[in-house]
Amino acid sequence: MPTPAELSRRALDYAAANQDALLELLETLCKIPAPSNQEELRAEFVRNYLLDAGAEHVYIDPALNVVCPLGCQDADDIRVFMAHTDTVFPASTKLEPRIAGGRMHCPGVGDDTANVAVLLLCAKYILQNKLKPRVPVLIAFNSGEEGLGNLKGCRRLMRDYQGRVHSVISFDGGLTHVCNKAVGSSRYEIKATTQGGHSFGCFGNRNAIEVLAGLITELYAVKPPQKAGTKTTYNVGLIQGGTSVNTIAQSASMLYEIRSDDRECLEQMEQSLRQILAKRKSADAKVELQLLGQRPCMGEVDKQRQQELEQFHFDLLEKYVGQRPKTGSGSTDCNIPFSMGIPSLCYGMYNGQGAHTLEESLDIASLTTGMRVCLAAVLDCFVDE
Ligand SMILES: [Zn+2]
Repeated sequence: MPTPAELSRRALDYAAANQDALLELLETLCKIPAPSNQEELRAEFVRNYLLDAGAEHVYIDPALNVVCPLGCQDADDIRVFMAHTDTVFPASTKLEPRIAGGRMHCPGVGDDTANVAVLLLCAKYILQNKLKPRVPVLIAFNSGEEGLGNLKGCRRLMRDYQGRVHSVISFDGGLTHVCNKAVGSSRYEIKATTQGGHSFGCFGNRNAIEVLAGLITELYAVKPPQKAGTKTTYNVGLIQGGTSVNTIAQSASMLYEIRSDDRECLEQMEQSLRQILAKRKSADAKVELQLLGQRPCMGEVDKQRQQELEQFHFDLLEKYVGQRPKTGSGSTDCNIPFSMGIPSLCYGMYNGQGAHTLEESLDIASLTTGMRVCLAAVLDCFVDE
């Protein structure tokens, strides 16, 4: 890949002239609730926006992705640029964007609404000016990136375009950090059930809470694999169970997750979980394991192609942001293409704070830089003179 080219005068003027339009678009998007698996309203807005800008083949797929292919018909080597429409906030969340002290405040404003807004404006520039793609490009506003979405949107996209994707850039997160390695995870509900009974009259019967507690103690005695250059973790995030103070608990359950940036280590942790569970099962206690979600680890990604992609985007970020980005592993939409061996990167178009909290905000001035970065990243695939 060549070094990032200069943006055309026309593109620079477009970025400068659309600063207010970007804020307005961001505010409008912020107000449209989009919990994972309920992205319908945002998807519809995004599709209509693209249609208004002149898109011809835009569609919403069954996973609620808004997909805008440009020069992709029968083509391989498709460059995918995506930003996710869903947020972690339930539909009941108050969504009232507020500007104060150079910042915009609203749950979800940065993650990932700002990136959706910037990519939308970038797509509008391409569509309005009828730019010719040099290589096939797919711009997607995908569903289901956050927890409960379980990467549903990206999975669907990668399946629909299987064998035809050259690389994936997921615009998610900020301008100073790039995720270039996948953290895989498995999330489970583990449930213990026993006969239970009256705390006094049936004393001696197995107690589901005691079974679960023993299980937790054992799980926390597991030493995660210590393979050099990798990180593996586990967590019990929630427990519930029991009936009353004078009842021997009949059921108790917990949410348990394991994470690793290494496939082998993740598999080892899965194995030790299954061994521990098998030991805990007995005639008077049932232990059930239910998989709630799974994000795959890195597959066999061609090192040189991944490096070329990194070089180009790191140079680009350095050029417009003024510093080379930090890198690290993460659990993002890129897990899916990574697991399929497709070179990928994840970064975003703003500087923000408090992602996944009600106090989330972003620095409005950083969006100006973000707009240029997005244009430079995507327009590299188009002829724009
Ligand atoms: Zn996100």
